[in-house]
Amino acid sequence: MRIDIITIFPKCFKPVLDESIVKRAQEKGKVKIFVHDLRDYTLDKHRKVDDRPFGGGSGMVMNAEPIFRAVEAIKSRGHKARVVLLCPQGETLTQKSAKRLSKFKHLILICGHYEGIDERVRQKLVDEETSIGDYVLTGGELPAMVLVDAVVRLVPGVLGDKNSLNFESFEGNLLEYPHYTRPANFKGMCVPQVLLSGDHKKIELWRKEQALKRTKKKRPDLLAK
Ligand code: SAM
Repeated sequence: MRIDIITIFPKCFKPVLDESIVKRAQEKGKVKIFVHDLRDYTLDKHRKVDDRPFGGGSGMVMNAEPIFRAVEAIKSRGHKARVVLLCPQGETLTQKSAKRLSKFKHLILICGHYEGIDERVRQKLVDEETSIGDYVLTGGELPAMVLVDAVVRLVPGVLGDKNSLNFESFEGNLLEYPHYTRPANFKGMCVPQVLLSGDHKKIELWRKEQALKRTKKKRPDLLAK
């Protein structure tokens, strides 16, 4: 998989892309991630990426030109890509949509800023819009990082134990069961006996029950699905 990120703040991606699972996924050759500075695609000497909105009003709007140039330059390398605009008005990112996105060979992520982007980018370039929740952030950089993390860990071969994906929250519309590790007794709080029993059938049943209980309590909307 290849992911290209278009942003006016390329430096802020380094700490996220160079750590943990996303870093290892790149080292293993499972995913290639390129961060592009949108200003490199401007044509004026001030490397300007925004302008005042037609019709007046507050804030600045990102120009269409550099975004078109960036996407076209990336696509011209022969890749068929899915272009995703990070946008609070988009469909909310879920485990299901992350799974769907993880199946594309190539994603191009556009991070907006200011009041947003010129509408013509949305009309002509964008295949889908993704939001990370019903709140407005300053820019699309944090949402892009969230999307990359959620998607990359689902790419086959990225996680060492692929079973960890099967038993994760949101699989089968359930939240995951509780976890415990050593010591068995911590400040008088004991690990449920069944987990120490070595009886794998009983443990599996207990986990299923716990997952159901938790989901019913915390996210009854998932159970309704
Ligand atoms: N004026 C826009 C509106 O009301 O819909 C909000 C623009 S926001 C300040 C600037 C940029 O941040 C957006 O273009 C988008 O790229 C990003 N952004 C903000 N909130 C987001 C969210 N919840 N999910 C995804 N991207 C978001």
